[in-house]
Amino acid sequence: MKIKFERYPFTPILGWSSSRFDLFSQCKRHYYYNYYTKFVKDVSPAQMQRLKKLTSVPLEIGNVVHTVVEELLRRFQKSHAPLNEEKFIQYGLDLCDKYFESKEFLEIYYKYTESIDRDSAKERILISLKNFLRSPLYNWIFTTAIHESDTWVIEPEGYGETRIAGLKAYCKMDFLFPVGDEVHILDWKSGKKQEEKHRAQLLGYALAASVNNPSIDRTKFIPRIIYMYPSLDELSFCITEQDLTHFEETVKIQTEMMHAFCDNIEQNIPKPFHCFEKTNFTALCSNCSFQEPCRTVHG
Ligand code: SF4
Repeated sequence: MKIKFERYPFTPILGWSSSRFDLFSQCKRHYYYNYYTKFVKDVSPAQMQRLKKLTSVPLEIGNVVHTVVEELLRRFQKSHAPLNEEKFIQYGLDLCDKYFESKEFLEIYYKYTESIDRDSAKERILISLKNFLRSPLYNWIFTTAIHESDTWVIEPEGYGETRIAGLKAYCKMDFLFPVGDEVHILDWKSGKKQEEKHRAQLLGYALAASVNNPSIDRTKFIPRIIYMYPSLDELSFCITEQDLTHFEETVKIQTEMMHAFCDNIEQNIPKPFHCFEKTNFTALCSNCSFQEPCRTVHG
């Protein structure tokens, strides 16, 4: 079974994504800083880009785990020979050094700590990778799914642009592979289980994959989120036609809500900055890269 993904020409109109709508719901100002960075006044473009690029320890742990698992899957596409587990884990730890040395951390920039505890990040990466390597899922992939490894889609290129109910949307999946008449879609997570948010992601994956592969029965797409830490866990559910139809409606409504904050929808030009209010839920601010302009320049 061949799985395809269409490429779309660039259009400026905004595209729905689960993470975009989350940010929109949490803090309109953070949403503006993040998605309309070039419209920000009174802060230099270079400084806005610097803030936008700030990373955090949990984000980088996730990046390392994603990259290592991606490499592992690509390696199994080329060779079915058993894996040298020690070397594989060492690759993850070396990658951690590389990523952590080359990036600027929010925790340092906003002085939460003087230095990043890389050893504890490595410990978490080590546990995540071991959890995966010792799981029934790993065993199943490399004893059953591997027979069709030439059809695997690993980290599809681009940002995962698709169409949901005719609207532009982004659903970036990590790994798709057929087994029998089903297509499994896996997404690796190293953070906490957030059922409601992740359920929306799963529905987005199923819809995006089915829009791109209309010859496959929509209910044959089985999206699953795999939590790698502290122990291997999973979120998946049987998706019905009704779930998918309902989700299409949700995407329409959420897209319209975001469009309401545009002066020009087609060109994705935002309304004036003052329309994008700060959140009252200040607990969210400690994870925000834009605390500095929010408090000092536009406070
Ligand atoms: S610091 Fe808080 S209020 Fe300001 S943009 Fe960030 S999340 Fe929103």
